[in-house]
Amino acid sequence: MELIERQHFLGAPDFRERLPVINFVLPCYNEEEVLPETARRLERLLESLESEQLISPASSIYFVDDGSRDRTWALIESLSAHSPRFCGIKLSRNRGHQNALLCGLMSIHGDALISLDADLQDDLDIIADMVRAFRAGHEVVYAVRRRRDTDTFFKRFTAEGYYKVLAAMGVKLVFNHADYRLMGRRPLEALRGYREPHLFLRGLVPLLGYRSATVEFDRAERFAGESKYPLTKMLSLAWQGISSFTPYPLRLITGAGVLVSLVSLSMALWALALRVFTQDALPGWASTVIPMYFLGGIQLLGLGVIGEYLAKVFESGKQRPRYQVESICGLWRAP
Ligand code: UDP
Ligand code: MG
Repeated sequence: MELIERQHFLGAPDFRERLPVINFVLPCYNEEEVLPETARRLERLLESLESEQLISPASSIYFVDDGSRDRTWALIESLSAHSPRFCGIKLSRNRGHQNALLCGLMSIHGDALISLDADLQDDLDIIADMVRAFRAGHEVVYAVRRRRDTDTFFKRFTAEGYYKVLAAMGVKLVFNHADYRLMGRRPLEALRGYREPHLFLRGLVPLLGYRSATVEFDRAERFAGESKYPLTKMLSLAWQGISSFTPYPLRLITGAGVLVSLVSLSMALWALALRVFTQDALPGWASTVIPMYFLGGIQLLGLGVIGEYLAKVFESGKQRPRYQVESICGLWRAP
């Protein structure tokens, strides 16, 4: 007993003696069209991983229903009624992908959890390699996209720019990685300590540390149904990424303030020099009106950015729960 506890706190678990319990967590929002196929493919995958002696037969698949309005929850219930491999958590309403995923990461136990999307865009064939990397001692295994050719030009261009901007601000992200990853028990426990209301998991997980590995995959087209990430949600997630990890935009405002002050100071000196050394008057209204508008714009922008950070403090202060569970189904195994 003592040995097990010491191993748990002091080192990566050792799977030479037993097979690891690897659970899967899939957030689902209105995914009735893909869910039966996803369940079928995952079940087949688990069977093959078990026959290869890579994972324990106690491994399960957990669907987190993020307040779907279609038959998603009914499908999850019927899957769990027919096979002990499937379990479900239903959130009381739609809380967004990151919160649904977090709910899974917080509530499911096991030696490791693999998070992936429900729409079969994440290639299941690399899971065996992810498990091998885990068993070799990597407690976080990131699935990264080899190419981005299934994306539109717009998405590719903005994604690349985004990684660059964040890197320039000192935020460490794994390039071309979203939320398809394996996390061992220790990083999961570490993640449970983070209480911030706006989550950006792909930024938080690299912060946790632990030995990590990457496995490459090609992202497929969505199997069926439509993307649940419209541009507005994508932009909001992108802003969460920046504002939750770096105060850099605030510093930019300070920089802009310094610059504008220097420019206006030199303009003032110039006006004074004109008045003292020449007979010229200052030309026209432009010199008054343009800086006025310019400064007005900078000030409003500055107020907006400060407001965004203040809103974060406001949200944090409330300490509201990030999701509410309405019901669960299936055979939940004890940790
Ligand atoms: N999702 C969710 N809640 C939401 C939006 C999406 O749980 O509010 C789930 C969705 O069912 C899918 C995953 O998050 O399993 C990724 O969403 P989607 O495939 O629509 O995003 P995309 O791949 O287009 O970026
Ligand atoms: Mg998708």
